[in-house]
Amino acid sequence: MIKRDRSEWTSVPVPSIVSKELFDKVQAKLEWNRQYYRNPRVIQLLSSLVRCGCCDSSMFAYRRFYKDKRMKVPKVYDRTSYKCNYKYRQAMHAKKNRHGFKKCDNMEIKVVLLEDKVFKMIEEVLIDEKELRKCMDFFKKRTQASQLKLEKQLKQNDDKANKAYVIKKRLVDLYTSGEIEREDYVEKSLDTDNDINQLKLDRSELMKKIPLLHNKDVVDLSIKKFCVSAKSEYKKCGENRDKQREFLLKYVDKIVYYNEKVAFHGFVPVKVGKEVAQLEFVIKEKVLMSDRLNRKNRLKNNPLLQITRKEHDASL
Ligand SMILES: [Zn+2]
Repeated sequence: MIKRDRSEWTSVPVPSIVSKELFDKVQAKLEWNRQYYRNPRVIQLLSSLVRCGCCDSSMFAYRRFYKDKRMKVPKVYDRTSYKCNYKYRQAMHAKKNRHGFKKCDNMEIKVVLLEDKVFKMIEEVLIDEKELRKCMDFFKKRTQASQLKLEKQLKQNDDKANKAYVIKKRLVDLYTSGEIEREDYVEKSLDTDNDINQLKLDRSELMKKIPLLHNKDVVDLSIKKFCVSAKSEYKKCGENRDKQREFLLKYVDKIVYYNEKVAFHGFVPVKVGKEVAQLEFVIKEKVLMSDRLNRKNRLKNNPLLQITRKEHDASL
């Protein structure tokens, strides 16, 4: 395709899909929405990192304002929460296609509450080597899970390779006995060779991982290094939200939330030579009543976190 200058374009008249009146009406509506849109897109600290623990949808942050009419001068508060996008995802599908959807009963959670919890998990567990190790399956079922899984993969790989060698030999037999044509033989044996080469590569990858995950010193050192650098990076963030966001994007794989239960998923990279294995961890906590109360008290004592109706109107 050649991109031509606009002056060289040839115009062809096409009938319009929508009427001029409808087009104008929609444009006017869009313009109105642009001017009056009160819920602009704001990136939260955990945006794109939170998933619903019930239906595995992503959870999005939305902000809304509400008025406290009990005061003489009505106060306007704003609340931003993470909410499962189950309903929206469901609405995008026709009724007859919704049977695959698991019904979700996850409640929304205030952004600040979840953020506080995640920071608490970082401070108490993520940057503490001893605590972090407790959150790793690797140390719980060391021999069962990781080793057996890798050994199983290795066996499957070897079985496949053996089969490929048998096929290769059979092809040679068929060709020499004149049962298949030369073209057919070349094509099929090339395919088999490709398979064998891939399996050889996979095997060497697996072989590297097996001793890697069982090299205690390497694993210990990696966790130590991970916690030390997480700690120093976390300290550097301070109250700077951009830096906090950067930190979270680096250290959080996902945060799974389901009715008060929070699970922080991440992994420690274990590097040996060119290989990097991932040592997974899951930090589990619950949002307690005390967390909510602490938040409320902090809010009460911090006038900066509250805005009045006047200020709210002025900011729009
Ligand atoms: Zn959900």
